[in-house]
Amino acid sequence: MFQVELVCSDPRCDAEVTLLVDELGEVEAVACECGHGLVELRVEGFEPVYAAEGEVIELRPGRPEPLRIAV
Ligand SMILES: [Zn+2]
Repeated sequence: MFQVELVCSDPRCDAEVTLLVDELGEVEAVACECGHGLVELRVEGFEPVYAAEGEVIELRPGRPEPLRIAV
């Protein structure tokens, strides 16, 4: 997914829109409510996190334990 920030191409309109789309091509089909087109300001790759299937783990700060090698 992509998170796309858009602004209206009409300088008199201050509309800003943030969309989540699967394909960047979907953004081109969206127009501002005032009838002008929208210009992409920023595009970020976005992967949703489904916490319902996740598990909370505790990360310990600091360096990991060094490996101990038996001699
Ligand atoms: Zn507009």
